Amino acid sequence: MPHSALKSSVVLTTAAALALAAVSVSAQRPHARPEPVKGPWMDASLPPDQRADLALKQMTLDEKIAMLHGNGMAHVQEWEMPLTYQMNGGAGLVVGVPRLGIPPIVMSDAAYGVRSSGDNGRYSTALPSNFASANSWDTNSACEYGKLIGTELRNQGFTMTLGGGVNLTREPRNGRTFEYMGEDPLLAGTLVGNRIKCEQAQHVIGDIKHYAVNDQETGRNIVDARISRRALQETDLLAFHIGINIGHPAAVMCSYNRINGDYACENTYTLHDVLKGQWQFPGFVLSDWGGTHSTAKASAAGLDNEQPLDTYYGDVLKTAVEQHKVPMSDLDDHVRRMLYGEFVSGIVDHPTQKSVPDVEAGLETARHMEEKSIVLLKNEHAVLPLGPKVRTIALIGGHADVGMISGGGSAQVDPPGGNTVAVNGRKGGFWQAHVYFPTSPLKALQAKMPGARITYTSGDDPAAAAAAARGADVAIVFGTQWTSEGMDLSSLSLPDNQDALIEQVASANKNTVVVLETGTAVTMPWLPKVAGVVEAWYAGSAGHHALANVLTGEVNPTGKLAMTFPASEADLPHPTIAHLAPGMQDTSSSGVNTGTGTGYSVSYDEGLKVGYKWYESEHKQPLFPFGFGLSYTTYAYSGLKTDASAKSVTFSVKNTGKRAGTEVAEVYATLPDAAGEPFQRLAGWQRVDLQPGESKTVTVMLAPDVLQVFDEGAERFHMVPGTYGVRVGGSSADEPLKATMELQ
Ligand code: BGC
Repeated sequence: MPHSALKSSVVLTTAAALALAAVSVSAQRPHARPEPVKGPWMDASLPPDQRADLALKQMTLDEKIAMLHGNGMAHVQEWEMPLTYQMNGGAGLVVGVPRLGIPPIVMSDAAYGVRSSGDNGRYSTALPSNFASANSWDTNSACEYGKLIGTELRNQGFTMTLGGGVNLTREPRNGRTFEYMGEDPLLAGTLVGNRIKCEQAQHVIGDIKHYAVNDQETGRNIVDARISRRALQETDLLAFHIGINIGHPAAVMCSYNRINGDYACENTYTLHDVLKGQWQFPGFVLSDWGGTHSTAKASAAGLDNEQPLDTYYGDVLKTAVEQHKVPMSDLDDHVRRMLYGEFVSGIVDHPTQKSVPDVEAGLETARHMEEKSIVLLKNEHAVLPLGPKVRTIALIGGHADVGMISGGGSAQVDPPGGNTVAVNGRKGGFWQAHVYFPTSPLKALQAKMPGARITYTSGDDPAAAAAAARGADVAIVFGTQWTSEGMDLSSLSLPDNQDALIEQVASANKNTVVVLETGTAVTMPWLPKVAGVVEAWYAGSAGHHALANVLTGEVNPTGKLAMTFPASEADLPHPTIAHLAPGMQDTSSSGVNTGTGTGYSVSYDEGLKVGYKWYESEHKQPLFPFGFGLSYTTYAYSGLKTDASAKSVTFSVKNTGKRAGTEVAEVYATLPDAAGEPFQRLAGWQRVDLQPGESKTVTVMLAPDVLQVFDEGAERFHMVPGTYGVRVGGSSADEPLKATMELQ
């Protein structure tokens, strides 16, 4: 493994040598801070791009090269480099330029909380999974989500997040679905954008990933995702574009896979033409860990920073610059973008100061978030909420006596005290362990219902579970589905015979409620037999309290599905995920990502028809449609008016039940026939708080981004003039209000 960081650091310019001498003098005085660096680039009143230009002019070639690659990864032996120890136990490090006051970029994974804290003897709050949070449709919560993670990153001494996943749920068996924001580009992009905006505001470099079409894990290092430009632009890329426009992340992480032939981290179309050209993205592109495959090609395509090593962007890049194979202007562009990220995020002006996180506040935020993320999917004969008449409850399965499951891989947040459920005899967290947080639904529910007798049965013996259910007023079965980076699900069925367990319990007790803790959709062969279904997803550090609040009615559920639940895998655009042919190499464990094979591709020939658009076009009835979610109250819609010049719609929503609630009112649009896209698309939404009997009139602007189509010939978006349809209601399949409007 080349260690150019070490080698280049001994080549000192005169200026750097003088600066070092100054540091060693101050080192003799304990606690003395180095003198603040002076220079026009340190003037915080100047715009970040100007400061980046000014700092760039001061830098030597070696300093520039050092800023364009990683320094290994903590806790991964294969990726150990000389400066790995300086990365604070995180996932990556880019050295700074101390003599210019440019700090290092210290990166941590932080999908639903700061990763690897346990390894470093620290604590992080786990929020509900990213996908869970998307079911809230709540931009304010997305902001709180980002703010919390940004704050805890700073508490722990990190200056960059590797969160911000927004790959569309094109393939629901994707093991990373829980790290993303669902199947709709407007919803996903808007929510991730708000998360990033508030995260970066805490003075950490924000990131959006994995750019792009990294929509399955199978063969992720070698797969070639084949997709038309129009479909790419209107679906997967649109989610990124909306997210970038709202959140202005300083960094974009390019993905492992190929896109139409070229690796995503050396793809001229997606990086140079679209991201940096059409969208004018001013920040830097870093590769996913091991996702860099070349020097000159990647540099020309727009990759700015190799992670986590220096194989292509260390000495090899320096030589390529010296030999004019990579122009100095391109090198400067890469460095300028890194510097821009440092200035715009505020990490230059606001040095990190490690501190204890506000654990209590974090738990409150995690609970609120989960309360908004839970989706009530079925509630027959008002089995929920659990009222005072419920005296005996049989909790069954899912380790509900001790905890709730979480999503694995690089997103994994370490639970306090280690994994609640010992795996292979070990209690600690490790790559691809099924990690349960110490969030016991049994304890949380018992605390809410002190008068009720609540028992727990493991579910290992379905007959014993059915016997426990038979004698109870209500049976609550927990169905868990573990998912992770580095794997896809072979099916959407609950694993480990849980379907059979649920069937047996439901046969024993007509008041059976299923609580799901899943990373993606599941099929439900038992659905007609159970009275209630609550989807709690991966619920985070306070998931048990949120769940108990929803089950008992203290909180009225408001979540709406951010993805379609198919009736069966046969209804998916790709009924199976193709395996790699024998001999194809793709190593994507915690170690090196070494995929080099060719010949494995996935053709996204459903194109634009992602998620609900597919089911509508193919006339397939989903199990639960996109945007669906019940409440303990009911809502009625009326009085739709359209305003073509403002491109907005106005309507009323009334709470027709007896409880206060919040309805997510959804607005869909259809395009004129000439667009050739005969399916609706989400065009806007609003969360409406309503007291019993209350009615509110709301106006929703139609998002301009989704009213346009992409013209491949002209390589741009445009509006098709004509008749647009508008549909309004409580889900993509329940739209009582319809109208048309003429738009130019
Ligand atoms: C993942 C990224 C992650 C990186 C660093 C990769 O395996 O795909 O999402 O940020 O590792 O841990």
